[in-house]
Amino acid sequence: MHTVVIFGPPGSGKGTHSKLIAEKYGYKHLSTGDIFRREMQNQTALGELVSKYINRGILVPDAIVLREFFKEVLNYKNSPGLIFDGFPRTLQQAEVLDRVMEKKGLGVDLVIFLDVEEKELLRRVLGRRNEVSRTDDNPAVFRKRLQTYHKQTSPVINFYKKQGKFIKIDGMHDIQHVFAMICGVMDNYLDKMPKQ
Ligand code: AMP
Repeated sequence: MHTVVIFGPPGSGKGTHSKLIAEKYGYKHLSTGDIFRREMQNQTALGELVSKYINRGILVPDAIVLREFFKEVLNYKNSPGLIFDGFPRTLQQAEVLDRVMEKKGLGVDLVIFLDVEEKELLRRVLGRRNEVSRTDDNPAVFRKRLQTYHKQTSPVINFYKKQGKFIKIDGMHDIQHVFAMICGVMDNYLDKMPKQ
């Protein structure tokens, strides 16, 4: 099973491109943010708990994220590939992910980083306020999300760089252009994989 992490700051296009990859390659898209928003919408106890973090632009604690992530991933064990969107977001999440996958003879294959300048991130996040209802897409919470990203999430970049899995894409272009570059990376990787 092929596993791809789509990585980047808030507003860099992780959700959009994960969906496009899922459609084109028949992979399953797993977004921890979507899992939490679903719980918030259904007004469950978990939804209420995580909303306290999400609406402040800070990370949901690792223990909760890991539990929900591994619960969800079990549903997809027969898929040809998986796309992780918004996970892992801390070094601890990345380490636990590696350990659990290793036990199953699997591992993260590729980490695709969408590189977008900060001004553009803000423009995109505030733009999508009209399209999707997200309680954390407003300037104050966005700034906090960005700070959280720099402090807690960006160290994950080096973790994957050291493993030689990290690929940076210029995410400043329009969706079609960025997606074409992502497909180039994916196809190149798949070409090199041993045929089953
Ligand atoms: P996203 O939809 O990926 O932008 O996530 C929205 C919010 O959900 C984040 O700002 C975090 O508060 C929370 N969240 C999503 N994924 C994670 C994660 N892997 N670790 C911690 N918090 C997360």
